[in-house]
Amino acid sequence: MLKRILNRFLGALPFSVVRHLSGEKLAAPFYHAVTDEPLPHIRHLFRARSLQAFEKDLDFFLKEFHPISLEDLLNHVRRGTPLPPNPLFLSVDDGLRENLRTVAPLCIRKGIPATFFVNPDFLDNRAMGYRYKASVLIDVASRLDGPTAADVASRIGDAIGVPGLRPSDIPTALLAVTYPQSAVYDRVAKILQVDFDDYLRARTPYLSHAELRELVQSGFAVGAHSLDHPRFAEIPFDEQLRQTRLSIQAIQNDYPSPCRSFAFPFGSDGVSEAFFDTVLGDGTADLLFCVGRIAKPGPRTIPRFWMEAVPGTDAREMFRNSYRQQVKSRLLSLARR
Ligand SMILES: [Zn+2]
Repeated sequence: MLKRILNRFLGALPFSVVRHLSGEKLAAPFYHAVTDEPLPHIRHLFRARSLQAFEKDLDFFLKEFHPISLEDLLNHVRRGTPLPPNPLFLSVDDGLRENLRTVAPLCIRKGIPATFFVNPDFLDNRAMGYRYKASVLIDVASRLDGPTAADVASRIGDAIGVPGLRPSDIPTALLAVTYPQSAVYDRVAKILQVDFDDYLRARTPYLSHAELRELVQSGFAVGAHSLDHPRFAEIPFDEQLRQTRLSIQAIQNDYPSPCRSFAFPFGSDGVSEAFFDTVLGDGTADLLFCVGRIAKPGPRTIPRFWMEAVPGTDAREMFRNSYRQQVKSRLLSLARR
């Protein structure tokens, strides 16, 4: 009952008031791909924004927020340089090639700064992220039919340790594979006659160094996103540190920046307080961009907001829902005191 009244009350308030009540100081939306073409390496993971939808998002950002750059954010955290009211920090993960022709020109036209968080291992299409491999495999498997499909599904099941796998369960089973187990994707690829190297050559899903340099020359910032995109909760502490240090170093070598920035691949869920203390304490990173739980929140840990999480929802609606949730949890924590 109380919840219903609260929902109705918050729903009736203007956007700026709900935002204010949420207490959120910085909006940090992020995307992976903006494209009108279905891409096999992402289409079974999330729904990318179309160019038209992305442009609408940008217009909303310009109407309600003041976009800031990575440098603005660093100067604010380091020297207390004030930010404009309602600041917004836009970022794009994974270094997908489409964004050079979609995100970049639109951001330039609208005057919105953006930061690209990339994986050094994937630049120049030298390798592919394990989740993207799963999407490519699901794409191929979904086109099988008849007795072949049942036979292939059962062989895939044997390869990934799910005996008696049915064709309709292939997507779920492949997406349940963790980063430490991800070598099984190569076995599944053999069964489905998929060659990831051919795929990388033919489709070039990732940016090349030359293309990334082009983005930097156009004024975009680059940050690190780990070496090869593991889920941090699934790897040991030392490996988390190695992935973070080496990816930041590689990016700094090729694209020197006053800000050593790192965005967690997938998110910061399950990452320990000790990790935050170590990499922020020893100068590995200046800013950490998070999604999900942050074990040690502070001025240098920036929560981000995944715009592709709920397909088809417009940006205003997504932000309003998120603010509404934050107002509710603030009120609940007040009530519990
Ligand atoms: Zn990513």
